[in-house]
Amino acid sequence: MPNYGVPPVALARGEGCRVWDTAGREYLDLIAGIAVTSLGHGHPALVEAVSSQVATLAHTSNLFLNEPEVLLAERLRGLLGGDGRVFLANSGTEANECALKLAIKYGRANGRSYFVATENGFHGRTMGALSLTGKASIREPFGPFALDVRFVPYGDADALKAAVGADCAAVFLEPAQGEGGVVPPPEGYLTAARQICDAAGALLVGDEIQSAIGRTGTWFAFEHEGARPDVLTLAKGLGGGLPIGACVAFGPHGDLFAKGDHGSTFGGNPVAAAAALAVLGTIEKDGLLANAVAVGDVLAAGLGAIRHPLLAGVRGRGLWRAAVLTGPHAPAVEAAARDAGFLVNAVQPDALRIAPPLVLTAAQARSFTDAFPAILDAVSQSREG
Ligand SMILES: *Cc1c(COP(=O)(O)O)cnc(C)c1O
Repeated sequence: MPNYGVPPVALARGEGCRVWDTAGREYLDLIAGIAVTSLGHGHPALVEAVSSQVATLAHTSNLFLNEPEVLLAERLRGLLGGDGRVFLANSGTEANECALKLAIKYGRANGRSYFVATENGFHGRTMGALSLTGKASIREPFGPFALDVRFVPYGDADALKAAVGADCAAVFLEPAQGEGGVVPPPEGYLTAARQICDAAGALLVGDEIQSAIGRTGTWFAFEHEGARPDVLTLAKGLGGGLPIGACVAFGPHGDLFAKGDHGSTFGGNPVAAAAALAVLGTIEKDGLLANAVAVGDVLAAGLGAIRHPLLAGVRGRGLWRAAVLTGPHAPAVEAAARDAGFLVNAVQPDALRIAPPLVLTAAQARSFTDAFPAILDAVSQSREG
């Protein structure tokens, strides 16, 4: 179907942070399949976990328990303070559908009928998650929606406070807007959101589908402000390339569903769960949280030192950054970077997203920041020519 257009490159294989296209051209992968391949390509721990699990037991459905799904749920609980209950799904949007159904149940039980989400936020493409997605050009062609969702400007605690009244069931927030262009909120916003939801009795749903699993240098981005949401959604980096999503609900919210309220045939798939366990184990064993901080700083310092008429600055945290451009140059810069052997993503017209595997080395980061001025020059010159 034409929904993606035709992507400019067909990839054939990968190794670590490098990928090769079908013509044999090599690239440094600085986007990781949209913040997904957290261990890079072909990591031995992931290959071993997936290969041995697919040979042992590839699928059970939710009619039967399997060991990897239980171990994964326990592992996530352990990383999150011990009182979470976990639903495993197959994607980010499905993790959010689970969170939304929990929030609907919470709302019905407490006489709360509407939801708050943020302008330019992104929560997925299925009808529930789409109704919470703040980008009108994505959402509106498929409306109207069954839910009352009110959008507030992201990062504005006063606007959030004004929107969250006694009838509000839940607030859906990303800790930084990923698809919005890797846009962090002002310091203190997540803490304020936590307090606003507590005061109003609304659930805080943290969409960490893009921001979690080490991307910002901590397991979860909410840790930077210590503002744990009531419901947390995960996907992208969790499976290291295998499709998986998770919805974690804390305290009493973990018991909102009754038997039969939700389900997924593939959710809790043992191969995907084994992949996620390998990802979490390797991040811990190889110190990849610290690597994300250190190499993220190299990337930010390198980009921040460049003086160029097309470059306005750099934002983000850890290995989740945007090079902010002075105009709508991102598609051209993405193409010029590709010509120079680097895969990045024009996430917004004026923002280039960099979300590499967490195993990126400082030397690899420098190879990109060293090449970036010439990449920008190539765009300026093609403009002038
Ligand atoms: C990618 C993303 C989603 C949707 O995940 P899919 O796996 O594409 O369905 C939802 N929320 C955020 C914050 C995301 O970055």
